Amino acid sequence: MRVGFVGLGAMGLPMALNLHRAGLLAGVWNRTGGRAAALAAETGVTDFPAPAELAAACELIVTCVSADEDLLEVVAALVPGLRPGAIVVDCSTVAAGTAREAARRLAAAGAEFLDCPVSGGTEGAIAGTLSIMAGGDEATLERARPALEAMGGSITLMGPVGAGQAAKATNQIMVAGINQAVTEALAFGQAQGLPMEQLIKALEKGAAGNWFLSRRGPTMIRGEFPLGFKVGLHAKDLEICRRMAEEFSVRLPIVEMTLLHYTRLPAHSADEDISALFRLKSDMFTRSGD
Ligand code: NDP
Repeated sequence: MRVGFVGLGAMGLPMALNLHRAGLLAGVWNRTGGRAAALAAETGVTDFPAPAELAAACELIVTCVSADEDLLEVVAALVPGLRPGAIVVDCSTVAAGTAREAARRLAAAGAEFLDCPVSGGTEGAIAGTLSIMAGGDEATLERARPALEAMGGSITLMGPVGAGQAAKATNQIMVAGINQAVTEALAFGQAQGLPMEQLIKALEKGAAGNWFLSRRGPTMIRGEFPLGFKVGLHAKDLEICRRMAEEFSVRLPIVEMTLLHYTRLPAHSADEDISALFRLKSDMFTRSGD
């Protein structure tokens, strides 16, 4: 199976490298040229000049772009080149409705679609251990499985197209709550004058231990917020969660609070890791002592 990859960002680049290591990657395309050229030079795969040319050369195309409109733009650019029966696997996080729209447009061009959003951060993308939440047809998933296994440690079919994105939205609400809990608690611990590195080591072994505390705690207490997962992307995901909850006339407190707190961060934080929320939480303690 010849696989093409579109979108060599923080997630896409290591995912494409894992497809290459599995012997599946035929070529890549990235909107901003330099990254695709560098990957092609490193691996020997083709740096396609346009998505349609990549589509024409591949049976399976993985996309990992930023947001809903970006996915639909890429789908439109792929369509003229798609081979009959090709599969498009989208690993971006978008609304379930956008996944269904992409599937409709691809079906009209004779191609199949799986929404396969991922969780596990850039670390999971590098290690090839992402949790992949899939939506779509089971037979299509089986055809795509070798590519999915090259990128992920677990692949779970959640239901028809859109169900993968519904699962991912569920995940993003949890990520918001965990970010709130870890940043607020560590800011509190710091204000108590606790030795922070020892505190994290103690807490991660107990009932409050979690991925975010272990991976992002040690950097946030030094005032460093390396990517990671951008605040701007998480805000985009929480807007999706907000719209999905509104369909039930529900406003979710964790979603609303986190979106509000992200707007209180400095503008440049949109491109920082979500652990930058720690800055806001520790400022509360500094201000109270003024
Ligand atoms: P980045 O901002 O690092 O990369 C985004 C990629 O999408 C870039 O290659 C960018 O191209 C491309 N892109 C964006 N818009 C378009 C467009 N209209 N047409 C063509 N290409 C486009 O994001 P991430 O890699 O971090 O995230 C990608 C997706 O994965 C997002 O949906 C995100 O929510 C999700 N995700 C991210 C995780 C993380 O920890 N970072 C974890 C799990 C999911 P260019 O280089 O030209 O800008």
